[in-house]
Amino acid sequence: MNREKACRTCRFIVEEGDKCPNCEGETFTTFWRGYVVITDPDNSEIAQKMEITRKGKFALRLSR
Ligand SMILES: [Zn+2]
Repeated sequence: MNREKACRTCRFIVEEGDKCPNCEGETFTTFWRGYVVITDPDNSEIAQKMEITRKGKFALRLSR
């Protein structure tokens, strides 16, 4: 069960609040699977592949 929600635009995982701190999007889904934690976006291959430029938790897949 996921209580956290993922931004539909950039997949950033938000624990509270109604606005994505990453892209300022306001559309979320609680239906997501798996996540990656990006701690060093400049040196992370995954971050570059996913076009992530910010530290944080990102959902790998959104179900809806
Ligand atoms: Zn976002």
